[in-house]
Amino acid sequence: MAIDIYTLGADIGSAASKCVILKNGTELIACSIESSGAGTGGPARAYESVLKKAGLTRDEIASITATGYGRNSFSEADLVISELSAHAIGAASFFPGVRTVIDIGGQDAKVLRLTENGKLDNFVMNDKCAAGTGRFLEVMAKILELSVEELGSVDEKAQSSAGISSTCTVFAESEVISQLAKGTPIADIVRGIHESAAVRSASLVRRMGLMEPAAMTGGVALNKGMISALERELKCKLATSPMSQLCGAYGAAVNSFRKANI
Ligand code: ADP
Repeated sequence: MAIDIYTLGADIGSAASKCVILKNGTELIACSIESSGAGTGGPARAYESVLKKAGLTRDEIASITATGYGRNSFSEADLVISELSAHAIGAASFFPGVRTVIDIGGQDAKVLRLTENGKLDNFVMNDKCAAGTGRFLEVMAKILELSVEELGSVDEKAQSSAGISSTCTVFAESEVISQLAKGTPIADIVRGIHESAAVRSASLVRRMGLMEPAAMTGGVALNKGMISALERELKCKLATSPMSQLCGAYGAAVNSFRKANI
């Protein structure tokens, strides 16, 4: 009888630490997401929580791959891969045949081009500026006294869009404050914020060239207002998954399976 192989992927991001445990490289056994918060405990909490949920010990995990911004400081890892590699593997598993992947996380946005066979072909990245990233949406949500989780459902109530013409976080913040002072409905301001972030992300996509089918991953893909704004801006349907934030961790766990199974 074949022995099951359990592998763990850890995506240590700037905003959240994500862990996934897979059985035989495909079957999701457990996952965890812990916000990075102010301290350094997020990665350890995500790691302990995923093992606990899976009912497994470290000794039962064949291999651990770390990825993400903090991958080199995650001492449990056997292997380390770049976020681009992890997201490419994860996206090819979530969305077979996908050619363009738009990954928007806490502090950066990346656009990946995959080959027909799901291999990373090319990429463009914005990691210099908060515009169009999760951080941009967090700053705007805070001014409106909303959580990022609420942005999608508030956007659905918009009657029109409060044009937020600036994509720069600092200037957009002043625009939002003046819209509030004018009494513009919150939902219309949220729609405007999503459209501003979408303009920024779409310009990154155009630098790469949009090839369909396309998908959106990363924590920001949980915001349906942001997905709709980007679909309107790009005039293209974007595939998403409720597991979008786990894409990098999933790809890392698949990487470990491939390496452990050689
Ligand atoms: P990183 O890998 O950089 O840590 P993630 O891909 O984990 O980033 O995404 C984090 C971002 O996702 C946060 O900045 C937040 O704006 C957004 N986010 C997380 N959960 C949700 C949610 N439920 N609804 C909307 N946005 C979310």
